[in-house]
Amino acid sequence: MEPYERLLASATAEMEDFVSTLGADRVLDVYIGKESRPYRIPESTLSSMSDIFVKAIKYEHLGIDPPGTLRFSGDDETAWKYLLWWKMKGKVPVCDRNLYPTEVLSFVRSWILGDKYDIKEFQDDLMVGLLLCLQVSPLHLTTAKVAFDNMMPSSPLRILMAEEIAHQIRQTDDPSDFPSILSWFEGTVGFTAEIIEALDMYESCGKHLLKRERCVSHRMRFMLGERRWSEG
Ligand SMILES: [Zn+2]
Repeated sequence: MEPYERLLASATAEMEDFVSTLGADRVLDVYIGKESRPYRIPESTLSSMSDIFVKAIKYEHLGIDPPGTLRFSGDDETAWKYLLWWKMKGKVPVCDRNLYPTEVLSFVRSWILGDKYDIKEFQDDLMVGLLLCLQVSPLHLTTAKVAFDNMMPSSPLRILMAEEIAHQIRQTDDPSDFPSILSWFEGTVGFTAEIIEALDMYESCGKHLLKRERCVSHRMRFMLGERRWSEG
């Protein structure tokens, strides 16, 4: 066979596979969090996102639900909306500027969901959105708390949150505010080390952090995959 014929044959085989998958595809009823109405999601869409979903589908018959039903009752409803939007539209939603604080919280919750199911591209797209929002909108401590309560120490999300808190500490003229900022995170394992490291970052990398515009190599520390950082 000529090389191009071989290429064509393998492309045709792949196409056949693809089409037969479509033919065999089921639509699953997926219940998220406390929502009573399921999302109807094609099996292939779900399995293409995470191996954990593949396993959940494999063992779906172990539940008491009718076939084709999956429940992720512990998951955040908004984060799932972001995940499905991202899967269908190929990007994360970006809202109006004055909604950034709410969006930051949604991005954080979604990043945590991405971590749970190991969907790195989703997490990286969210991270780009997070960095964008945080450039113009200050981080709320309640949002940072969600990250610290749900992620392990040294997770990129926590490092980012620690830097933003360090930013707030550095920007505060009144040092008596520090204890009230830090008291939010009392008892959070690893927080002290992370905040010290973030404050240190100000000494070495401070200039652009003060402007909240992180340099490229800096931003890359928050990315999990192979995503290339494009400026702008
Ligand atoms: Zn930097």
